[in-house]
Amino acid sequence: MSRKQEEQTVDAVLIGAGIMSATLGVFLKQLQPDWTIEVLERLDEVAAESSAAWNNAGTGHSALCELNYTPEKEDGTVDCTKAYKINEQFETSKQFWAYLVENGLIKSDFIQSVPHMSFVRGEKDAAFLKKRVATLTQSPLFEGMQYSDDHDTLRSWFPLMMEHRGPEEKVAATKMDIGTDVNFGALTWSMIRYLFRQPGVGIHVAHEVKDVERSEDGQYWEIKVRNMTTDQSRTIRSRFVFIGAGGGALHLLEKSGIPEAKGYGGFPVSGQWLRCINPDIIERHHAKVYGKAAVGAPPMSVPHLDSRMINGKKELLFGPFAGFSTKFLKNGSYMDLPTSIKLNNIVPMIQVGLHNMQLTKYLIQQVRLSPEEKLEALQEFYPDAKLDDWELAIAGQRVQVIKKDKNGDGILEFGTELVHAADGSIAALLGASPGASTSVSVMLDLLKACFAEEMQTPAWQSKLQQMIPAYGQHLATDGGLLDKTRAWTSSVLQLKPSIAEPV
Ligand SMILES: Cc1cc2nc3c(=O)[nH]c(=O)nc-3n(C[C@H](O)[C@H](O)[C@H](O)COP(=O)(O)OP(=O)(O)OC[C@H]3O[C@@H](n4cnc5c(N)ncnc54)[C@H](O)[C@@H]3O)c2cc1C
Repeated sequence: MSRKQEEQTVDAVLIGAGIMSATLGVFLKQLQPDWTIEVLERLDEVAAESSAAWNNAGTGHSALCELNYTPEKEDGTVDCTKAYKINEQFETSKQFWAYLVENGLIKSDFIQSVPHMSFVRGEKDAAFLKKRVATLTQSPLFEGMQYSDDHDTLRSWFPLMMEHRGPEEKVAATKMDIGTDVNFGALTWSMIRYLFRQPGVGIHVAHEVKDVERSEDGQYWEIKVRNMTTDQSRTIRSRFVFIGAGGGALHLLEKSGIPEAKGYGGFPVSGQWLRCINPDIIERHHAKVYGKAAVGAPPMSVPHLDSRMINGKKELLFGPFAGFSTKFLKNGSYMDLPTSIKLNNIVPMIQVGLHNMQLTKYLIQQVRLSPEEKLEALQEFYPDAKLDDWELAIAGQRVQVIKKDKNGDGILEFGTELVHAADGSIAALLGASPGASTSVSVMLDLLKACFAEEMQTPAWQSKLQQMIPAYGQHLATDGGLLDKTRAWTSSVLQLKPSIAEPV
C-alpha cells in the first residue's frame, strides 16, 4: 500500500477537544449529518485545558455583573455597546444548549441560576454604578437589574460580604437574578459524548497534532498527528480544519502558512484562585460578585467572589490573581512563547511590550503578591476572611492576541479572534475572552466565514432556525421576542431565578 493510500480522508478535522471544537462538531453534525469528522486531542481526556471547570470561572458572561463591558466615556456617559452584544451572544448560547437538551442530545446539569452582582466601594464608584443601571435598563435585556447602597438590603444580598462592615463605609451593588454559573467542562464532555455516538465521527485523545499543511494539489489539508500512547504518527487529509487548540492554536496556525496568519502573536497570562475549603463559608454565599479591575489589569482579571456548582457540589472561589508564565497551555511548555516568535510577528510583539508598561507593572506586582496580600484583596470583599479557610488553585492559561492595527502597529487584544483562510478551508480561534459563554456565536461566525455557500441553503437555514429560534433577530430591541426566548430557555435548562439567602 502506498503512503497516500494509507491516509484517511475526512470532511473536517477539529484540533483540540475543548468547548469550541465540541460546539462546532455538534453544529456540523446537526447541519450535515453525512460529513465525516475527526476530533484530535493531545491530552488523555477531553475538556482538560481552559474549558475544565476549575480552570475558568464558569460565569455565563452576559454583562449582568462585569463592569469592564460598560466603560465610562469621556463625557461621563456609560458605553453599553459591548454589554448589549455579549448579553445577546449569551442568549444565543442558551438557545443552542436548550435545543440540545430538549432533543435529548445532552443533559441540562451543566448550568445553574446564580444571581450576578457588581460590587463597588466609595462615593465615586457608587455613582458610576447607579448610572450604569440607569443606562443598561433602557434595554429589555437588562430589565429587572436592581441597585442598592443600603446596608440592610446588601446584607440580604450577600451576608458574608457585609459581616463586620461599618455603617459608615460607602458600598453599593447591583443584582440580577437571571445570572448563571456554567460548568463548561461538563458541557464539553456532554457534547463530545453526543459526537462519539454519531456515525462518521472519531474522537481521539492522546493524539497531538504536529503539523498542518496544504496537500500538493491544494485540495486538502494534511494533518500530521502523533498517537502519544503508541508513539506512532499518521497523516489525515481533510477538506476543512478547525484549529480549536486554545493556547496551542497560534503555533498550529503559524504552521499552516496561510497569509492571514501573518503578524499574529500571543501574550500569555496565567491565573490563580483562592478556593474556599470551609463548607460553612461556602454555604453562606450565593452569588457571583464582580468588583472593579485594578489600574493596568487586563479586563478579564476583575476580582470576583464566586459561588460555583461543580459536579453537584457547591464551591466558592475568589480571584483570579494574574501571573506570567511563558506557557501557552496549562499543560504546555515553557518554550511556547519563545518558539511562537517569528520574523513576521516580532515587531508587533515588541511594540506591545513597549506600549503596555501598565500591564507589565500590574503582572509583576501580581506575581509578587504574598499569601497575606492575596488575603487582603479577598478581605475587600469578605472582611472576616481567614487564610486557613482558603487554598491556592491554579487556573487555566489565557493567551491574549497580539496583532497589527490598520497602521501596522502592534496592539494587544483581550477578546477572541477568528482567523481563517480566504477560501474558508481552515480557521483558528485565538484569544480567550469572553470565551466559552460566547462559543455558540463564535462558531456561528466561523460557519458564516468558512461555509458561506452551505449557510445559504434552505436546509442549513431551517436547521439553524430550529436550533436557535431567534437566529438573525435582535433581542436587544424586541422585548416580546426576548421574553418568549428567555421563558423557553429557562424552562428547558431549569433556570429558576434565585434570591440571595437572607442572614
Ligand atoms: C482563568 C480563566 C477564567 C475564565 N473564566 C471564564 C468565564 O467565567 N466564563 C467564560 O465564558 N469563559 C471563561 N474563560 C475562557 C474560557 O475558559 C475559554 O474561552 C474556553 O474554555 C476556550 O475553549 P477552547 O475550546 O478554545 O480551548 P481549550 O478548552 O483550552 O481546549 C483546547 C484543547 O486543545 C488541545 N490542544 C492544544 N494543542 C493541541 C495539539 N497540538 N493537538 C491536539 N490537541 C491540542 C488542548 O489540550 C485543549 O484540550 C476563562 C479562562 C481562564 C483561563
